[in-house]
Amino acid sequence: MQRTFAIIKPDAVQKQYAGRILARIEAVGFTVRALRMIHMSKAEAEGFYHVHRERPFFGGLTDFMSSGPCIVLCLEAADAIKKWRDLMGATDPAKAADGTLRKEFGASIDNNATHGSDAPETAAFELGYFFRGMELR
Ligand code: GDP
Repeated sequence: MQRTFAIIKPDAVQKQYAGRILARIEAVGFTVRALRMIHMSKAEAEGFYHVHRERPFFGGLTDFMSSGPCIVLCLEAADAIKKWRDLMGATDPAKAADGTLRKEFGASIDNNATHGSDAPETAAFELGYFFRGMELR
């Protein structure tokens, strides 16, 4: 079993897609190990996305991620990191495959509905950024 970190981003929460996304998470067999609604400050979003701090989209990305509430999750499954990225689809919803969450719920590369860790080291950092040990069942 593996754990990954996921976010239902502010655009999806605002459009009331959270319930449908959670239903899809459960339908494909993830166990939700932790879940919380938060509203990141700009500084918290900048810390979360620090690997992208030199990228041209960093300001817009961190403005967006701190623009409203989002839902942070710890998901568990066999090969969870790849399984969640496969369910999300490509970063740009216009390029995401049919049946993926970003295809169905994403509007643009900026408003792409979900986040998922891309490697075990990233998952460990991202889970630790948002959850204390005692919150993870
Ligand atoms: P992810 O792992 O698929 O979320 O993609 P990345 O970690 O590479 O990027 C983080 C987030 O930054 C993405 O989910 C997008 O919302 C945004 N992003 C990535 N690349 C671009 C880009 O080229 N332009 C813009 N505007 N946003 C981007």
